[in-house]
Amino acid sequence: MQNNIDNKVAIVNLGTELTQGFTLNTNAHWMAGRLRDLGFEVSYEITLPDDANVWSATWEMIRNAHVQTVILGGGLGPTEDDKTRSLVAETFGEPLEFHEECIPQIKAFIEKRGWKYSDANKIQAYFPHGAKVLENPVGTAPGFSITKDGVTLFAVPGVPFEARDMFDRHIVPFLQTKGVKPFFSRELRLAGIFESNMAEMFQKVQFPQSVSWSSLPVDDAIIFRTYTKESAEVLQDVERKLVEALDDKLCVVSTDGKTLTETVMDLLKSRGETLSTAESCTGGMIASEMVNLAGVSEVFKGGACTYWNEAKENIVQVPRTVLEKHGAVSEETVLAMAEGAQKAFHSDWAVATSGVAGPDGGTAEKPVGLVWMAVASKNKKFAFCKKFSGDRGQIRRKSVFKVLDALRRAILEENEQKSTCTKVQ
Ligand code: AMP
Ligand code: MG
Repeated sequence: MQNNIDNKVAIVNLGTELTQGFTLNTNAHWMAGRLRDLGFEVSYEITLPDDANVWSATWEMIRNAHVQTVILGGGLGPTEDDKTRSLVAETFGEPLEFHEECIPQIKAFIEKRGWKYSDANKIQAYFPHGAKVLENPVGTAPGFSITKDGVTLFAVPGVPFEARDMFDRHIVPFLQTKGVKPFFSRELRLAGIFESNMAEMFQKVQFPQSVSWSSLPVDDAIIFRTYTKESAEVLQDVERKLVEALDDKLCVVSTDGKTLTETVMDLLKSRGETLSTAESCTGGMIASEMVNLAGVSEVFKGGACTYWNEAKENIVQVPRTVLEKHGAVSEETVLAMAEGAQKAFHSDWAVATSGVAGPDGGTAEKPVGLVWMAVASKNKKFAFCKKFSGDRGQIRRKSVFKVLDALRRAILEENEQKSTCTKVQ
């Protein structure tokens, strides 16, 4: 049986710049993801200032929790605030020793880049007695590992690309010797559903003991992740039950990690159809979302950023009478924008947005957050409005994904109709 304690890891990142909010601790996030995929459990993910007392208290806490692998990031630089070597030496009760053999490599790394080697770099060749020096081919500071009383501590540099390289180079092979089973995971992405409604529906699903889950709302979807160490099949079975429990099956964007925009692209590709956009309040963000995807040229023809009424009139042919009678933020205007884009770009589908992104410009009738969106194809045209909450950026992002989701659903409905027609014939 697998020893439970052996799959527990603590990640500690040292650096006052992290705790003072100057630098985001991206190493912890990245390492936690790698450890999860390798089947390890992160017991602690801690960020500390360069402070000996705080380190001592943290070390005691980690020891009391019987964690046997500790990853300590940062503080291996050549400056005064880089304390990792001396802190670990003290914690492990070992003196620091100079490793002369490391100097040529440190020196070569510095000089190859045209920098000047200085005596300050010498400190990077000091390691606690008994430590194993870990080569760092992508930076100046070598790392080290030290084992005592069944606990192994890895010290790696804080610079993110160095930390990642050192993790894969030295820590992964060590972890792999522990024989921990990796996790299987699946991602169910849902759109057009509130997280609370989803939770209510999913309550009906019985999860096997071995399966754990997490729910994370992101810009374009809710990501419902399931994990197990048992088998991929167990997760597939759970996912089938989750989908069954949903009232509206069209909520399912993907089960393979594809984003909403990727799904829209794939759907258009499978039908051999094209898309264009006419954007007012989103100002090109939908087009940008599409163009971010490799291979989108097959389906995305182009977009018009029609911010002023004049642009709506001249570029996507919204009749002046419509703009005067109903205003720029109206059902009539977005429908005309979508139709205008469809014509201008000769595309099968078009989407349009026009709304009040704020913070100014709202009225009682058309408050900040009110956005009209439209979808047009040769078979149907429809518009709908939403009153989004949040700041300008959030309102614009929510509009992008709302209208892309409406497009996705409209395409799926057409697919459905096509398949019913085929069946009837
Ligand atoms: P250090 O190894 O502590 O001297 O850090 C070197 C550089 O890496 C500094 O610019 C730090 O701000 C940055 N850094 C250190 N730790 C982290 C971390 N956990 N996440 C992101 N950047 C970091
Ligand atoms: Mg530092």
